[in-house]
Amino acid sequence: MAVLPTTKHGNPVLTARVEPIEGVTDEILTLVDDMIDTMRNGETPGVGLAAPQIGRALSIIVAEPPPDHEGTEAVHNGAVVLMNPEIVYSKGHTIIEEGCLSCPGVTAEVGRPSHIVIKGLDRDGNAVKLEVEGALARIFQHEVDHLHGKFFFDHLNPIKRQLVKARIRRT
Ligand SMILES: [Zn+2]
Repeated sequence: MAVLPTTKHGNPVLTARVEPIEGVTDEILTLVDDMIDTMRNGETPGVGLAAPQIGRALSIIVAEPPPDHEGTEAVHNGAVVLMNPEIVYSKGHTIIEEGCLSCPGVTAEVGRPSHIVIKGLDRDGNAVKLEVEGALARIFQHEVDHLHGKFFFDHLNPIKRQLVKARIRRT
């Protein structure tokens, strides 16, 4: 496990097209472990991380499940690991304050669906489908956005978005 530098807003890898994971190689397993380590022990510890945030245009996300999370599917070393994640269903609406390791020090209240069903591959390459709500649903949506070159502020109205982007440019 190794802590890697996190890429910041403006780095082209954060808006690059990500490659799907076709097979779980030793390199991918090491990368997943490094992503978990970076999420927990990096310069700004967080609760989720997408591969572009450590400079790799690959379809992998990791998330820290909240203490009340009872599911064990896709959990490795206490973190949820999903490769090629895809949100296949969502419902409800909730507003939660979000920040991002790639935009340190800037947060905004973001509205998103409260419940989602997400499918993908676990760290072993097995297909999994998770139905989640609350904090984990929020983290998954934020991290899947990173695989599509999107940031949390892209969900704000144009005026708020410009304010947040101006704050990011100043940090
Ligand atoms: Zn982020």
